[in-house]
Amino acid sequence: MRWNVLPYTIPLWITLIFSIGTAIYIFKRRAVPGAIALFIMSLIMSLWSLGYIFELLSQSLREKIFWDNVQMLGGAMGVSCFAFALQYTKQKICLKRRVTILLAIEPVIIWILAVSNLTELFRGNAYIDTSGPFPALIYDMGIASWIDFAFGYVMYILFIILLIRFFIRSHDLYRKQASFMMIGLTITAGGYILSFLDLIPKYMRDVSPFTFTILNLSLFFSIYRYKFLNTVPIARETLFEKINDGLIVLDANKVIVDINLLAQTIINTTTNEVIGQLFHGIFPNSQEILKNMDNSMQTNLEISLKKIDQEYIYEVESLPLVNKRNTNIGWLIVLHDISERKKMEKALQISEEKYRNVCEFANDGIVIIQDGYIKYMNTKLLEMINHTYEEVINHYFDIFVIQEFRTLVRETYRRRIMGEEVNNRYEITLLCKNGDKLDVEVNAAVMNYNGRLATLGYIRDITERKRAEKALRELAVKDPLTQIFNRRHFFILAQKEFELSIHHKYSMCAIMIDIDHFKQVNDNYGHAIGDQVLCNIANNIIDSIRDTDVLGRYGGEEFAVFLPKTDICKAQLIAERIRKNIMQSSVSTDRGQIFVTASLGVAQILNFDEDDIDKLFDRADKALYTAKQKGRNKVIIYN
Ligand code: GH3
Ligand code: MG
Ligand code: MG
Repeated sequence: MRWNVLPYTIPLWITLIFSIGTAIYIFKRRAVPGAIALFIMSLIMSLWSLGYIFELLSQSLREKIFWDNVQMLGGAMGVSCFAFALQYTKQKICLKRRVTILLAIEPVIIWILAVSNLTELFRGNAYIDTSGPFPALIYDMGIASWIDFAFGYVMYILFIILLIRFFIRSHDLYRKQASFMMIGLTITAGGYILSFLDLIPKYMRDVSPFTFTILNLSLFFSIYRYKFLNTVPIARETLFEKINDGLIVLDANKVIVDINLLAQTIINTTTNEVIGQLFHGIFPNSQEILKNMDNSMQTNLEISLKKIDQEYIYEVESLPLVNKRNTNIGWLIVLHDISERKKMEKALQISEEKYRNVCEFANDGIVIIQDGYIKYMNTKLLEMINHTYEEVINHYFDIFVIQEFRTLVRETYRRRIMGEEVNNRYEITLLCKNGDKLDVEVNAAVMNYNGRLATLGYIRDITERKRAEKALRELAVKDPLTQIFNRRHFFILAQKEFELSIHHKYSMCAIMIDIDHFKQVNDNYGHAIGDQVLCNIANNIIDSIRDTDVLGRYGGEEFAVFLPKTDICKAQLIAERIRKNIMQSSVSTDRGQIFVTASLGVAQILNFDEDDIDKLFDRADKALYTAKQKGRNKVIIYN
């Protein structure tokens, strides 16, 4: 060992330490693209430096050649650089094992040749040159050395081409990393080439190990300053490629600098076709997006793209990218597929429209009530109660129901919502805006409205039905001309009262009334006037009797009154009142006033056990007959 040479080896020691450090650092973070190749490079650098240190320190030619052979492992540098570039720029072939083996063949053969140095294929005329500051190993390059040099050179060129291509297409972050590494690797390569071109002092046969220091520095700078091999690029990469949105990065000139896979599929292109192209030349419907970008706004737009007969809708978001000085350096365009959402929205809208139409054109009122509040009311129902939509919506439902039905509807509603069995069909009366009442039939059902329980009510206007029912009922009981009870119904009511009075042993009376000479009225004034006179008489009788008395039209111009809880004296007074009222009232015609009189027969219950209603009215009729005989316009009591 020549320890006086030691100072000359200092740069190599530094290189060695850096290389080992780098190797360890990278090995711990070997999952990153390019890391394995860089790790191998660092190992090679370590061996190369180590070999060179000991070659310099060795004295004998044998020793020097041995350490030179160790350095020859560094011949794999070019290949490693190329492998690194393949991995780092993610070329597809880098994943294949065969490629790795193929790349390793040349360095291995050369190393074997160097070590064996058969027929001086690698090294010729080796000697120790002592003309320099330290004894150096000098030899002629054999054919294998030249092949190795040429191979390494090709690898370097490929490596640089890959890196330059990557540099052009890369994101800002990668670009700085890539350029730093490129500087380092180029200097290394430069030194390598210089030594082969004999442009350096002879005793410095190879400056490459020194230039590795620079390479190491550049790598470390990349590692620490730009966090290369840290999680940031991985996270970015993962995010960029795995995100469910299409992403396009534009620079300040709106040139596409990056595009993820999804965005490539969306606009049906590949990275090669679009990187470096102007955005508007590539992207369909770009005008609007660009317009918004010019205003430097973060905006959202919806665009539709047709792909093989199918329409896709994307929400396009353009986010301005700014640097630390807040100047715009580009845009991030996010393409978010909203086709599915749009389709759903449309389907929902169509179905909603369909149901709304059904509801709106329905001939019945429709109401949806949730938590007691009206959530929907169709036009028909609004018309029915004479309100506007705003006047009913979100109002408590029972205010549109008349007071007497409120408890019923509230109770029914509550029980239905609670899931109890309730009558879902009932009739109520609604309160209209102007205070009018509207008879309706309600058909209610439980439904799901906006995800929650509600009541759906079909409301049918039953005013007409109610009127018809009432008319039918009245027709059955009333005389259509005078509107008093007909004979049949009169006897039903009178019979009830009769039985009640019999039961309580109350006295009761009957009055029979017959108009005097009514035929003459008809003959003189016509049947229509006769009808009027009959109505007038009916009213006179109503005015003369008490509420508890029952009046009916007995026959043509004959009337019957049943007087419960009445003795004969009281009955006589009432009969007299009737007679007088008839006599005094008149019906006006264009031929003057028509006055009529009536004869009345009064009878009372005589035997509670044997009498019946027919017997009672028979007796009254007999008295009436007597009244007629005795000159008419008289009240006669049966005795
Ligand atoms: P009297 O004093 O004896 O009762 O004489 P009168 O003319 O009233 O005789 P009677 O009671 O026998 O005649 C009843 C008449 O009343 C016969 C019929 O033309 C008439 N009449 C019966 N029902 C109606 C009716 O609904 N409308 C009209 N205009 N006339 C009726
Ligand atoms: Mg008569
Ligand atoms: Mg008569």
